[in-house]
Amino acid sequence: MSGREFWIGTSWKMTKSVAEAERFAAALAAGWPGHHGPLRLFVIPPYPHLNRVAGALRGSPVLVGAQDTSPWPDGAHTGDVSAAMIAETGAALVEIGHAERRRDHHETDDLVAAKVAAALEHGMRVVLCVGESQVIRDEGRALEHVTGQVRAAFALVRPEERDRVLVAYEPVWAIGEGSRAATLPEVEPVHAAVRAVLKDLGQADPVILYGGSVNPGNVDELARSAEVDGLFVGRAAWDPDGFLGLCAAA
Ligand code: PGA
Repeated sequence: MSGREFWIGTSWKMTKSVAEAERFAAALAAGWPGHHGPLRLFVIPPYPHLNRVAGALRGSPVLVGAQDTSPWPDGAHTGDVSAAMIAETGAALVEIGHAERRRDHHETDDLVAAKVAAALEHGMRVVLCVGESQVIRDEGRALEHVTGQVRAAFALVRPEERDRVLVAYEPVWAIGEGSRAATLPEVEPVHAAVRAVLKDLGQADPVILYGGSVNPGNVDELARSAEVDGLFVGRAAWDPDGFLGLCAAA
């Protein structure tokens, strides 16, 4: 990663008991690899653990985030959690538009844009997840699809907020059990296209993470690409040793 700032984050998705979350946070608070160069780290627990994990990591350089936010400010929206509530826990970022939310909750680009605006309004960063399905890739429309998702997500972003949006390129076909990670020849053209869009949208220095089956075997290659500004990891970082091991390898 040659001296530049490099991001590594994990979302725990819907895993971990309170005790497991506490153990992970304590291990991270004790072992964050500040000596491994200019790493920017973040961890994204499920809502019920957010307060606890943010508390445990307060004062450390590890940012804590939420996996989603409501697009609405407050009021009668049963089951939703507002960006104001998330910010109050000490969370510094919100993941928005993950493929599993687009799939399980039918999240549209318009809804994603509203959520991005809500998180930014409360001073947090956004990790905006985008990515194409296998069908779209096979049709040769990956670039068009992913850049379209990015542009749509910026619909309500004000100029002074735009640098707080990080993009995570996560091809749907690369995420989760039974998938394979994308290769650099698959990743780099997408990152380059997304970078061009982000610059066109006014970002000074876009940050584009790759996610999808990142593991100890591919972290080094991915981290060495000038197109990859960070990694967003699921399964391989779900225990603290795994997370810290990837940080050390990047
Ligand atoms: P995975 O998940 O690393 O388990 O494939 C990645 C993601 O969904 O961000």
